[in-house]
Amino acid sequence: MTKIGFIGLGNMGGGMAVNLAKAGHEVTAFDLSPEAVAKAVEGGCRAADNLEAAVSGADVIVSMLPAGKHVRMVYAKPGGVFGFAQKGALMIDCSTIDVDSARAVISTAIDRGFEMIDAPVSGGVAGAAAGTLTFMCGGAAASYNRAKPFLEIMGKNVFHAGDAGNGQVAKICNNMLLGIHMIGTCEAFNLAKKLGLDAQTFYDISSTASGQNWSMTSYCPAPGPVPNAPSNNDYKAGFAAAMMLKDLRLAQAAATSAKAATPLGTQSEAIYSLMEAAGKDGLDFSAVMKLLEGSL
Ligand code: NAD
Repeated sequence: MTKIGFIGLGNMGGGMAVNLAKAGHEVTAFDLSPEAVAKAVEGGCRAADNLEAAVSGADVIVSMLPAGKHVRMVYAKPGGVFGFAQKGALMIDCSTIDVDSARAVISTAIDRGFEMIDAPVSGGVAGAAAGTLTFMCGGAAASYNRAKPFLEIMGKNVFHAGDAGNGQVAKICNNMLLGIHMIGTCEAFNLAKKLGLDAQTFYDISSTASGQNWSMTSYCPAPGPVPNAPSNNDYKAGFAAAMMLKDLRLAQAAATSAKAATPLGTQSEAIYSLMEAAGKDGLDFSAVMKLLEGSL
């Protein structure tokens, strides 16, 4: 039984904290929202009234927060985690944040005598609740090895991607590719339809030809060919366009910082920002299909 402090009990963190508690760990949970804390307590966590109560005396500290500014604030601001945690504590930030913030916070953690890794996830809210997330981790090998048993409670696949921040790099590069694939798949199905080729026939051909990709075969944006895809459920998310846009913006920020050419990543961000501007970014990210059809 390990003493764990958990910060950020939202859609993702709530399920993750409960899974750690169910595995027999003493999880002291904090969120700015008292309702979120109450829900975690129902699932077997202890309530913390503030950050200090969550992290004081904890051997392991896990966070699942919205963005880089929250992570910087929660860990590094005066009155943050670094001020209250015991020396040698292991910190695991599972939030999806910009690479520069992840690297800066981890570097400060190490300077202050802690261990820390970035460990963003894929798998969504269902994966967080079921303990089947995929973790992509960055940081020292020893810290990763220390974190692994806890990550294996919350997830099914756990990868070490290299040095600090590389978990975020893996996540945003994968999701940039996913966004590009999805838009390309939507364009192909839309053009096929306009030229008189129905979605099922095009799917049967392309899914066994060189255009095949995950967005087509597991998540087909044209209704019909893949029965459980969001396109058959009025494009209800799924993976919301807003979440894809967040990741594409992180990818673009990182590309600018690294002076990497990502022309299709740039276009993808622009296309998902049109969904945001239309107030439709709550739809699944495959709803780019509707944007191209003119029916968003
Ligand atoms: P969420 O908004 O539901 O939860 C974030 C929680 O953090 C909220 O409960 C909020 O009150 C809390 N919080 C914010 N600032 C705080 C502070 N200073 N102290 C304590 N608590 C604070 O978000 P989510 O959907 O759980 O996502 C969390 C992270 O996981 C994000 O970085 C997101 O990009 C990533 N992610 C989400 C999904 C998904 O499907 N939702 C999938 C993969 C990754």
